[in-house]
Amino acid sequence: MTSAANTSDAPSPIATLPGDTPSDVVAAVVAERRRTFDTGRTHSLQWRRRQLQALSRLLDDNESEIVEALALDLGRPAADAWLADIGAIQLELKYVLRRLKSWMRDTRAVLPLVQQPGSGRVHREPLGVVLVIGPWNYPFYLTLGPLVGVLAAGNCAVIKPSELAPESARLIAELVPRYLDSDAVAVVEGGAATTTALLAQGFDHAFFTGSPEVGKKIMAGAAPHLTPVTLELGGKSPVIVTSDADIDVAARRIIWAKLVNSGQTCITPDYLLVSRDVLPKVVLALTTTLARFQKDSGTSALPIVNRRQFDRLSNLLVGHGGDIAAGGVTDPELLTIEPAIVVSPDPDSALMQDEIFGPLLPVVAVDGLDDAIQFVRARPKPLAIYLFSSSSKTADKVIARTSSGGVVVNHIGLHCMASALPFGGVGNSGMGAYHGHWGFETFSHRKAIVTKRTRPDPILLYPPVTDLKQRVLRWFF
Ligand code: NAD
Repeated sequence: MTSAANTSDAPSPIATLPGDTPSDVVAAVVAERRRTFDTGRTHSLQWRRRQLQALSRLLDDNESEIVEALALDLGRPAADAWLADIGAIQLELKYVLRRLKSWMRDTRAVLPLVQQPGSGRVHREPLGVVLVIGPWNYPFYLTLGPLVGVLAAGNCAVIKPSELAPESARLIAELVPRYLDSDAVAVVEGGAATTTALLAQGFDHAFFTGSPEVGKKIMAGAAPHLTPVTLELGGKSPVIVTSDADIDVAARRIIWAKLVNSGQTCITPDYLLVSRDVLPKVVLALTTTLARFQKDSGTSALPIVNRRQFDRLSNLLVGHGGDIAAGGVTDPELLTIEPAIVVSPDPDSALMQDEIFGPLLPVVAVDGLDDAIQFVRARPKPLAIYLFSSSSKTADKVIARTSSGGVVVNHIGLHCMASALPFGGVGNSGMGAYHGHWGFETFSHRKAIVTKRTRPDPILLYPPVTDLKQRVLRWFF
């Protein structure tokens, strides 16, 4: 366990705002989790199972409260709230509960000849106290989701939900101690100052979901204590549409994904790279699909989370140099922006440089696959790359020639809902991964164990060093 002392190279303090937790309370909360971890009670399979089952009950028993909090914070429809914030965690819980016992077993490792007779194995031990820092866009999924891996690995946890989804944060703070072992898992509410105060305590791991800019601050705040970090960040995830793609299906899947939470999703399509020869067909399919989905859902726009984000997105709609093929009507009273399809924007505009994280979809023409790959490679590594193509050779080429957290061929975002796949970014989109076994491994220390018998006790390594001993030793190597 790392020390609680503040060090001189820690980042300068951030102003405390109403809603932040005082730093002495923060220190006491972390200290209590450390004490609980030191008792060793979180290590057993029974404890881990009980916590995971309790988390599942928390979600089941409080579905209507969770849906209501998400509606108040984000204007999220009930069906989306269930799918993204409740169903997705339950899926992960089922997957982990079924496999946890086997994951906890030590794995055997074969020792080299020179170490025989003897046995080797890898033992997974809990890290200790883990800090989970969440964003506002999926406030339950992105705090309680990572908690599945944290608890499965036998750790204590402190959860810091986002202050920008206050109803959800309040509900998480109320429910977690009612269902989980409250000596082991605590929720601390607040914003940047609270997160900074938490990091200053030193943790055994910090798991952060949020923007690359804040990610850098988290890493800096973790550095004085050498707290290891997992950073689940964002960025611009491109969609490549080739000439041989099924354009109607591509349009449905792209528009469906972009409408969820008004595009305020880390793995949402950020922009499209479309083969020039099919550009008019793609734009037509996107605009007609958008109109149909808006009509069928009875809504033309969902709200943006707050005025700051609304203003940021509204500014992206100005000076991009492209043509708006659909949408783009803004309502500052309701904080809504009609999903906008922007054709051929200037690649140097803010719309094409910054992560959009909202209902704007730029469509850029490219001269074939190589041009698309070049476009992606010239920019920071994204969280996801999506490809719509009927050719497996094209898919293989995109996978081999680009780097991203994940790739989905002919759909959007599905890799995030499969617990058997690692979820995480690379480069600017993050470091480390979780979900399923990957989360269990992230929150476990892999301890190397070698066990030897005391006899025989060969003299090869003991002095004096002789030519014969050296020759025998070299033979073994
Ligand atoms: P954010 O980075 O602004 O905030 C995330 C968390 O960090 C919040 O809990 C916030 O209180 C805290 N925070 C903010 N400023 C801080 C500071 N200066 N010091 C310490 N802590 C601070 O992110 P957001 O606006 O909540 O979410 C949007 C971003 O998150 C987007 O970039 C999106 O792509 C990314 N995201 C990534 C994933 C993923 O799984 N990779 C998922 C969702 C969102």
